[in-house]
Amino acid sequence: MQYRPFGKTGVNISTLGFGCMRLPEIQQEDGSFVVDQEKTDEMLRRAYDLGVNYFDTALFYCHSNSEIAVGKALKPIRDKVYISTKCPLERVKEPADFRKTLEESLRKLDTDYVDFYHFWGINQKAFDEKIVPMGLIEEAKKLKEEGLIRHISFSFHDKPEALKHIIDNAPEMETVLLQYNLLDRANEEMIQYAAAKGVGVVVMGPVGGGRLAAPTELVKKLGSEGLNTYELALRFVLGNPGVCCALSGMQTIDMVEKNAVVASLETPMTEKEWREVGENLEKLQKFSELYCTGCAYCQPCPKGINIPKIFQAYTYLNVYGLKDLAKNTYQGYLKDEKNPGVTSDACVNCGFCERKCPQHLKVRELLKKVEGVLGSL
Ligand code: SF4
Ligand code: SF4
Repeated sequence: MQYRPFGKTGVNISTLGFGCMRLPEIQQEDGSFVVDQEKTDEMLRRAYDLGVNYFDTALFYCHSNSEIAVGKALKPIRDKVYISTKCPLERVKEPADFRKTLEESLRKLDTDYVDFYHFWGINQKAFDEKIVPMGLIEEAKKLKEEGLIRHISFSFHDKPEALKHIIDNAPEMETVLLQYNLLDRANEEMIQYAAAKGVGVVVMGPVGGGRLAAPTELVKKLGSEGLNTYELALRFVLGNPGVCCALSGMQTIDMVEKNAVVASLETPMTEKEWREVGENLEKLQKFSELYCTGCAYCQPCPKGINIPKIFQAYTYLNVYGLKDLAKNTYQGYLKDEKNPGVTSDACVNCGFCERKCPQHLKVRELLKKVEGVLGSL
């Protein structure tokens, strides 16, 4: 296992982290779920034996049972590992709720302290309108002084410029957990920025949330024959020198062992190889007929058409050759239970999207074409 300095925290973490959001579960007769503790113990201990020292959970993972299972599995080796968990801001109605939420996690984890306590899944709005005015960073600092948390962290879901905003305005934030993989490189530049500022970077979804776990044509397209797709994906993420750790939501011992092999490579990818893969990805995108960067400047469409989402589904097919992923993404969009996707049938030709698109895409024409292809998969 390789280890990297985790920003300025003074901690060295393993380049493979265990994401405990998909632990094996058993459904009870009453329909509720419990985590399969025996399998979890085996997997987490195997990961530890292979050198993994970073374990990431959250209050609500695995039907809110992940923290309990992780706490039990890691109890005998608590002082040898780093535990990361997260505070859901919807729980925080007043500053004191931040502490209460941590205390709940400590009870569930059966530990006296959390190594990395995250503001969970924040964006610029949550930062500007809740964390700052409510004084939650001050609350986190108090918890740190009391030893209940060792480091202040955040997990992030927003545009890259929002990441810069948070890092620049909250020097107390020591580590960030963000999305980055072969299919989504939006945060690439900001990873370098965070690293330069001494903020430790952990990547969630290094194999695209499992989308790159199975063999695909992508490896061939990127000129990396001889590697499995998951291996290329993991090597690519760890090939970025700004990344400290790739968090994988492993579900079997086999996955743990395979990922650990990649994370044990001294050089998962040379700088030259890493640049080449990046360049090849860009070429694949740029020479495709639809080069949508996913910037979302075309949003909000007044009729609610999620243009970036529809184009993303098409990009999976057209650029990466990932037919099943394209189909599932488009169908998932159309059939979303809470918010069923709107198609171009609703378009009223206002032209807003085309005026805003920095790629000068003929959005309306492309939507029709793309939906035709996606609908027939
Ligand atoms: S032109 Fe159609 S797709 Fe574009 S913003 Fe207007 S309604 Fe939405
Ligand atoms: S503005 Fe253009 S490039 Fe950006 S998401 Fe919309 S269609 Fe894609």
